[in-house]
Amino acid sequence: MKESTLLSIAKQEGHPVYVYDANKIEQQFTRLQNAFKGVEKLRINYACKALSNLSILGLMKKMGSGLDTVSIQEVQMGIKAGFKPKDIIFTPNGVSLEEIEKAAKIGVQINIDNLSILEQFGTKHPNIPVCIRINPHVMAGGNSNISVGHIDSKFGISIHQIPHVLRIVENTKMHINGVHMHTGSDILDIEVFLYASEILFDTALQFKNLEFLDFGSGFKVPYREGDIETNIEELGEKLTERFHRFCETYGSTLELAFEPGKFLVSQAGYFLVQVNAVKQTTSTVFAQVDSGFNHLIRPMLYGSHHEIKNISKPNGKERFYTVVGYICETDTFGSNRKIAEISEGDILAFQNAGAYCFTMASNYNSRFRPAEILWYNNQAHVIRKRETFEDLVYNQVLLDFKEKKVVG
Ligand SMILES: *Cc1c(COP(=O)(O)O)cnc(C)c1O
Repeated sequence: MKESTLLSIAKQEGHPVYVYDANKIEQQFTRLQNAFKGVEKLRINYACKALSNLSILGLMKKMGSGLDTVSIQEVQMGIKAGFKPKDIIFTPNGVSLEEIEKAAKIGVQINIDNLSILEQFGTKHPNIPVCIRINPHVMAGGNSNISVGHIDSKFGISIHQIPHVLRIVENTKMHINGVHMHTGSDILDIEVFLYASEILFDTALQFKNLEFLDFGSGFKVPYREGDIETNIEELGEKLTERFHRFCETYGSTLELAFEPGKFLVSQAGYFLVQVNAVKQTTSTVFAQVDSGFNHLIRPMLYGSHHEIKNISKPNGKERFYTVVGYICETDTFGSNRKIAEISEGDILAFQNAGAYCFTMASNYNSRFRPAEILWYNNQAHVIRKRETFEDLVYNQVLLDFKEKKVVG
């Protein structure tokens, strides 16, 4: 998006504000589709925990996406946005049997990732088809916080426990219709992904009535210049060829599913804040903005890097700043960043603010969560209003402490 457009949105809608570029989301979706155009039955289920605004879900639906959900509330959001239950997959971790049963009742595809729930669900509902999430024990990416396929991960059923799964299936007569893996949030290496896929294929061969294989996500998007980005086109070519061979061996043409979150929405998002104060200390120049980890927590939570630009004066002489928030804790967005010279009142834009940004926002320090804007058809649409004081206190109950109650 043009910086001048972002700036005028901040002027018009106020700040802090999240802005999403619908064009970029569509581009990424089409890119993924094209990379796998050789696959007869391709299904893309948008992992909506990345950005779950109803209008974003509506946009995904319009493009032909399905939905990957991790809570019953996300399932309900999907239904509200117009998805049919059959276009939603429920892939939770550590939720109760009751929640899974609720989702099954709505009619969404169930994905189970532990043996105990699998056994209970299969015993009670042998006629509802279930997908199983396996843990292939593969480390994708270097950061153990976000690589969930390794040995100590809480996600998935270990591939070493497949004999147990088979015994449960035999005893309950349940129907396993899909096998799923999601190895983590950063695939650095296509070879690692293909290696994990081999494990998925091997596992799949042990189930006779599959309808789909779900390869999860973890596609990497660039966060700064020179960052590695998953080469989707190359992955598409290699995996398509291998998938075809698998289907031949298996004896039927299965559906191939992905569930990207970050890949579809990260780069489409901008978070716009205003600089309240420029504060020079003995060693650092701080730019203090009208936000904090209440609105964008990724830099503090996982050390993520978000590029920061001064869109008010993009051509100014670059200087070094440490950009911090207004929360009464350490809330550093970025240290020693080269940014075009900042004056108080300037608007800064954080990039890659589409995925896991607004959805992780809170009301800490009793601040309002920001508005969300969708830039669609060359127009700014408010898709979430900024909160108000009424929203902050809506569910709270102020007890009356003045009234003297006689005890006894
Ligand atoms: C979060 C999640 C995704 C999406 O991951 P991204 O890195 O955002 O693409 C996919 N599948 C499951 C099961 C998830 O929990």
